[in-house]
Amino acid sequence: MTDWTRRDLAVLWHPCTQMQDHETLPPIPIRRGQGVWLEDYNGHRYLDAISSWWVNLFGHSHPAINAALKTQLDTLEHVILAGFSHEPAIRLAERLLALAPAGLSRCFYADNGSAAVEVALKMSFHYWQNVGKPDKTRFITLTHGYHGETLGALSVSDVALYRSTYAPLLLTPITVDSPDCARCEPGESWAEHSREAFKQMAATLAQHADTVCAVIVEPLVQCAGGMRMYDPVYLSLLREACDAHGVHLIADEIAVGFGRTGTLFASEQAGIRPDFMCLSKGLTGGYLPLACVLTTETVYQAFYADYTRLRAFLHSHSYTGNALACRAGLATLDLFEETGALARNQTLADHLRAACRRLEAHPHLSEVRQTGLIAAVELLQNRSNRTPYPWQERRGYQAYRKALEQGVLLRPLGNVLYFMPPYVIRPEEIDLMVEVAAQAIAQVTACAD
Ligand SMILES: *Cc1c(COP(=O)(O)O)cnc(C)c1O
Repeated sequence: MTDWTRRDLAVLWHPCTQMQDHETLPPIPIRRGQGVWLEDYNGHRYLDAISSWWVNLFGHSHPAINAALKTQLDTLEHVILAGFSHEPAIRLAERLLALAPAGLSRCFYADNGSAAVEVALKMSFHYWQNVGKPDKTRFITLTHGYHGETLGALSVSDVALYRSTYAPLLLTPITVDSPDCARCEPGESWAEHSREAFKQMAATLAQHADTVCAVIVEPLVQCAGGMRMYDPVYLSLLREACDAHGVHLIADEIAVGFGRTGTLFASEQAGIRPDFMCLSKGLTGGYLPLACVLTTETVYQAFYADYTRLRAFLHSHSYTGNALACRAGLATLDLFEETGALARNQTLADHLRAACRRLEAHPHLSEVRQTGLIAAVELLQNRSNRTPYPWQERRGYQAYRKALEQGVLLRPLGNVLYFMPPYVIRPEEIDLMVEVAAQAIAQVTACAD
């Protein structure tokens, strides 16, 4: 155990962690990061197969982002964004709006993903208040959705492990079944399954439109809820139905935005413009906390009035639009342009698909599912009838430990193992990542029955 590990255990309380687990597997202090690799104080290297919780896009310690931040540091680190402004915040908003689906014309900054979701929920609700529809107070969500863990964001999330303890504190959304295509019938396409699943959403919207502010979804991939994927047709149908019923559509692209699913934003694949688009995670290339909500001129205008009408959106965070974070965001967008990242991701996604073939038809694995640079597979006790392992056995966690020993950082969601690497990963590193995962899977499913 290094001195840093001992000192960590004496003072830190880690996120999303049963701290007792650290009695047998202490946290790993990282000395430096370079590209897809992390290095600890014992000289062990770990391939960051999950992009450090999905935030990193172009690798750790990227020279271009480093240089941009150093320049910004000598100019302006931060300034209050109420009454004041600065160049990185303005330029980043301009560029994001130019890249986002047409019709999004305003950028409201926050400082983390959950905060962006809070902003979108409050803005939608407040919009309806401002336009004289005070009965609209509720939200429609999907089962297995995840939108963050502050109370509002947790309210509209549906991951029991994170939510149920706090249920008495939360808003009660209307929850519709996820279009999750892992539940396709044999021979049914993702598009057919997603269309079929939409019927319940259509009926729910028809029934509750008068009291609903917005539907909130993670476009194409429900990430924290287990990398559950669906077809873009669900989003096209949702956009139409929201328009027909006068309900907002909130696209939470916090995890899927910035190229993860094959397009810069997942909403593009359905050709839709959400009323609110939440961005964070990859927004700064994984460097600094920053988030924003992009919205329409219609929404903006409903708040624009004489002060005494008390219509303003009076929401704020101290670090709103932090200058260093915005500068990292600009450097990240530069890298998309300069490196042709979206085209390269396509090649990498094909390579990942081919590499994952070795996981196919395994008796203790589900089918491999993939959207862009996210591939996932579930450990199952019985593949043919999709029986899960008892969660108490923590087989995913055992796989995590085995893979760590082999120098790959996976972080399964329960028993769902997934790959979500930085975009600078090389094909041979993809092979290594999948090889190590396959070995870990073999070890943790060996004594299955
Ligand atoms: C991570 C995530 C959030 C929350 O973002 P934080 O910065 O962790 O608060 C919200 N929505 C989705 C889809 C996410 O993946």
